Amino acid sequence: MREIPDWLTDNRETMALAAMLAPPYASDSLEALAAESRAITLRRFGRTMTLYAPLYLSNYCSSGCVYCGFASDRKTLRHRLEPDEIVRELKAMKKLGISDILLLTGERTAAADFDYLRKSVEIAAQEMQRVSVEAFPMSVSEYRALADCGCTGITIYQETYNRERYEALHRWGPKKDYIDRLETPARALEGGIKNVGLGVLFGLSDPVEDALALYRHLRYLGRTWWRAGMSLSFPRMRPQTGGYEPPFPVDDHLLARMIFAFRIALPDTELVLSTRESAAYRDGMAGLGITRMSIESRTTVGGYDNPENKEEGQFEIFDDRTAKEFCTALRKKNIEPVFKNWEPAYNGPSDGNKTTMHHGEAETCH
Ligand code: SF4
Repeated sequence: MREIPDWLTDNRETMALAAMLAPPYASDSLEALAAESRAITLRRFGRTMTLYAPLYLSNYCSSGCVYCGFASDRKTLRHRLEPDEIVRELKAMKKLGISDILLLTGERTAAADFDYLRKSVEIAAQEMQRVSVEAFPMSVSEYRALADCGCTGITIYQETYNRERYEALHRWGPKKDYIDRLETPARALEGGIKNVGLGVLFGLSDPVEDALALYRHLRYLGRTWWRAGMSLSFPRMRPQTGGYEPPFPVDDHLLARMIFAFRIALPDTELVLSTRESAAYRDGMAGLGITRMSIESRTTVGGYDNPENKEEGQFEIFDDRTAKEFCTALRKKNIEPVFKNWEPAYNGPSDGNKTTMHHGEAETCH
């Protein structure tokens, strides 16, 4: 078994963050952290919120993650979107105002392998401003090929950094390889992917230990790929087929403390909150540290072109407001929803379908 690298266990770097996260909370009350986090967010990101939506391409999976509704032992109906269906889904998403998309699959299978994913990225890049992928770990050359097709970002969560818990939770399949997963974001950056999103699934293991390891991982990547875009997500376990109950539940207060502490520790990093959280919680966190949110999420394969789709998704979503309703709620808080970002400007002039945008020229929903 390969050893855990030193950078993941060096706690000198995380002392300030630990003081904000671990009882008895040596540094500051929640209110004081919220005020500081809010001020930093306003200074660095202004009154904006970038928005994206997930599109599940396939629910085939070869792994047995105990907490997931798509694990290979679940009796879920399996299918994948074919190219014409992907196009229909993308067009339905565009009608909702979405231009920033996250394509998802399970672990690598014959039905949804690298070639399938690459083709899907190619199709999505024709329609969308920004295309990211949350799928299986790949090699450097595979990431390079994805980047060449228009993939600008990947999301890959370690789920938990506690190796023993990781071993127990990932019962079989390629995802069982802890070190391979840990090294995946670095391979993606090496392959030319410009943005990586990291996270842990809160509820699986000690949340504070996981948060500190997550911070070290991000700092490690930042030291080598200092020009890369980084984002952090804060997903909490949601009900799912299989009924796994999280043994380390994270309550609203601790999650808020995490968000504020990370904003203070990492002022320029994009912090993401998904529709796993309730409408009230998301509205509360907008402007206080979170700078990116998902909208109109479906966790079924497809589901935008056919909203009547009743199949079970990977997990239940909580905030099911429409994009319009969500934008209205943001504007009430004086926050401007942003559907396009500066990615084309960042990438330099590319194809004529994509608008080059400059800071301050964000396209927003109406
Ligand atoms: S979390 Fe991902 S890898 Fe694990 S069972 Fe679910 S889809 Fe498969």
